[in-house]
Amino acid sequence: MDCPKCKGEMQEHTTRTLQGEVAIDRCNDCGGLWFDNGEAEALKDDWMSEFLDSGDPTVGKTFNENTEANCPRCGEKMDAINDPDQQHIQYEVCEEHGMFMDAGEFADFKNETLVESFMKVINKAKGKLHT
Ligand SMILES: [Zn+2]
Ligand SMILES: [Zn+2]
Repeated sequence: MDCPKCKGEMQEHTTRTLQGEVAIDRCNDCGGLWFDNGEAEALKDDWMSEFLDSGDPTVGKTFNENTEANCPRCGEKMDAINDPDQQHIQYEVCEEHGMFMDAGEFADFKNETLVESFMKVINKAKGKLHT
């Protein structure tokens, strides 16, 4: 399978999760990750999955700016969307097949939740001070 971002070679990595085995495709060049529908959710709760996103987040950020990506499964242009809960995380989605995350984004997806909840509390407290 070709990487939707850089056209590099994507290699399949299998990992065991509580929900069973999940095969993730990772790009050898840019470190981007392709998740078939449901895989990202299955992996999110599994700490084992962290090793998968070993790409360089700096490289990932560069490719994140390129939102012109086609689904590696059907070739249709994917939608660039922001995660509803974590707005700073943007990924490309094909509704039918899955989603693509640049290097570093998946680790972010998993780990930022705590930080963001913390920030919400801080902002609330700040809001109270100013009103
Ligand atoms: Zn790539
Ligand atoms: Zn597709």
